[in-house]
Amino acid sequence: MILFIPERKQCEHCHEKFNKLDNLIEHLKNVHHQSVSKCHNCGKEFLHEKDRLHHVREENERKADARRHSKTGMK
Ligand SMILES: [Zn+2]
Ligand SMILES: [Zn+2]
Repeated sequence: MILFIPERKQCEHCHEKFNKLDNLIEHLKNVHHQSVSKCHNCGKEFLHEKDRLHHVREENERKADARRHSKTGMK
């Protein structure tokens, strides 16, 4: 499986580096008051709207998949 989202864990404003993306997001929110995109399903936060959309699409696919597996014998 190929992941298209590059893990950028450096602040674009002050170039501070972070070990975790979560920490970078917290930093951007608290220090630079940058708005982030939030998943309405699980509350996960994303730096860019396209990252959130990608995540939501994967979530929906997983949900659809679970439905397919639980309803066997359906044609
Ligand atoms: Zn910063
Ligand atoms: Zn989610």
